[in-house]
Amino acid sequence: MDAETLRQYLEFYQDLGIKTLYRRGAPANTGQTRAEGQVEAAPAPQAAATESLFHIVEDIGDCRRCGLHERRNKIVFGVGDEQAKLVFVGEGPGADEDAQGIPFVGRAGQLLTQMIEGTARKEGIPLLRKDVYICNVVKCRPPENRAPLPAEMEICGGFLSRQLLAIHPKAICALGATAAKFLTHGKEGVTRMRGNWYKWNDIPVMVTYHPSYLLRAYNVEPKREAWEDLKKVLHFVYD
Ligand code: URA
Repeated sequence: MDAETLRQYLEFYQDLGIKTLYRRGAPANTGQTRAEGQVEAAPAPQAAATESLFHIVEDIGDCRRCGLHERRNKIVFGVGDEQAKLVFVGEGPGADEDAQGIPFVGRAGQLLTQMIEGTARKEGIPLLRKDVYICNVVKCRPPENRAPLPAEMEICGGFLSRQLLAIHPKAICALGATAAKFLTHGKEGVTRMRGNWYKWNDIPVMVTYHPSYLLRAYNVEPKREAWEDLKKVLHFVYD
């Protein structure tokens, strides 16, 4: 691989929040591949819980495990800090995300960014979007933005689980019904679940409304509630 191609790969992985790269087959203690000045030995066999995001991206590859691959432009893996203390999980990419390969970059994403940064600022917590990690239950855009099917969630959700185990945040914020259902197996709607703590493995999960729902003009009260939920999460994680 030439230097320019390597540079482009590194930039792409950096956008995905990946700061640690492993060189396959490199003997421990010898030359590993460097990214962002960090060097680590090749992963140990027992490393299921400490698997790198890079390894998961590699494993996803040019995924064709479900029908969503047929109409996708880009796989939308996730973005942010690989060591984030807080992870936001949405449903699946929309049109803007599918075009750019980055989650929550459309209108709902702009609102999510404002919610994270605005609430943090008001609460005196120094936190920017880049400091958290953001991803979705499914990594390819469902046609016409329909909700992902149970089989699609099951197949792709395995990668989300591995992402969450790799990052092991202090808390997860589930945005909307799809993420709430996947992470908590709760049967109630978001209106009842929001503002409450659940658990995914040993990690606390706060359920709140999806930003797309909040964008609808009449949703004034849910907006206030979502801000309350976010305040709870931010104080829990960063106090
Ligand atoms: N909605 C989601 O659930 N995820 C995105 O990435 C964008 C919009």
